[in-house]
Amino acid sequence: MGEIEHAVFQLMKIDNLPPLRSIIKTYGLIAKRSLGQNFLLDLDLTSKIARQAGDLDGYPVIEIGPGPGGLTRALLAQGALVTAIEQDERCLAPLKEISSAYPGKLHIINGDALDFDFAVVLPYNARKPKIVANLPYNVGTQLLLNWLLCESWPPFYKSMTLMFQREVAERIVARPDSYAYGRLGVLCGWQTNAQIVFDVSPQAFIPSPKVTSSLVHIVPKTAPSSCSAQKLGQITKAAFGQRRKMLRQSLKKLGGEILLAKVGIDGTRRAETLDIEEFVALANAL
Ligand code: SAM
Repeated sequence: MGEIEHAVFQLMKIDNLPPLRSIIKTYGLIAKRSLGQNFLLDLDLTSKIARQAGDLDGYPVIEIGPGPGGLTRALLAQGALVTAIEQDERCLAPLKEISSAYPGKLHIINGDALDFDFAVVLPYNARKPKIVANLPYNVGTQLLLNWLLCESWPPFYKSMTLMFQREVAERIVARPDSYAYGRLGVLCGWQTNAQIVFDVSPQAFIPSPKVTSSLVHIVPKTAPSSCSAQKLGQITKAAFGQRRKMLRQSLKKLGGEILLAKVGIDGTRRAETLDIEEFVALANAL
């Protein structure tokens, strides 16, 4: 490699750690389907993902499932203070290597993110953490629901920048009268503003999943309409559980016609025609 080529190569590298491919080889990280492992090995792409979370300099960031650390390295290179929760013990050694390259900036937790108490991350510094993750698809929707329906609002996080399968991302940002509109769209749209920022092709992952993925950026609303998350969950579950039926039928067990009359919604309408505020009104009348 010539001098100029070497200088350009150094500029393009985000850190002095080994390439992700050699880390995967060294530590024998053969992807496990049971843990939803589809690794991103392109540090340009992980840097692009990290940038979508906005300013990270000095920000606490929670990352779920760092795996071999491609996104973790991009977050750290942009100045984040990362708490990374990883279930796969095989990933701990490579993550410790990253931690040594960024002393005091990476806190690794070996555990299940579904059981993790995120409040313990708060004392990291005075700022609310941003959640950034290439989520394991098998638990991604459940994690999102836990964060959307957390008890206190505004929530413990400042924003969420998350990778999902394209089909799930479309459901998260869906609006009424669209095929993707359902429970997830209502629960997300009620308290947050969400948008798809870009798609990522299957070839970007090792191993390649069957479908395209999308990065979604989600910001909590400061003053969402007041409503019980549990009741909104109940209403949307019943309404979209039988989405082809009229509401007077699908909501029958929850008081059907009486409930709908209370908030002035025509019982012959179907769930997908109601906007989020109408669902909130129904939940409040329940
Ligand atoms: N962040 C890495 C990347 O972008 O290459 C890996 C992403 S991979 C899609 C999902 C990661 O989540 C894997 O490392 C997997 O071991 C981890 N994981 C799966 N289930 C988990 C859980 N319940 N809690 C914490 N980590 C989990």
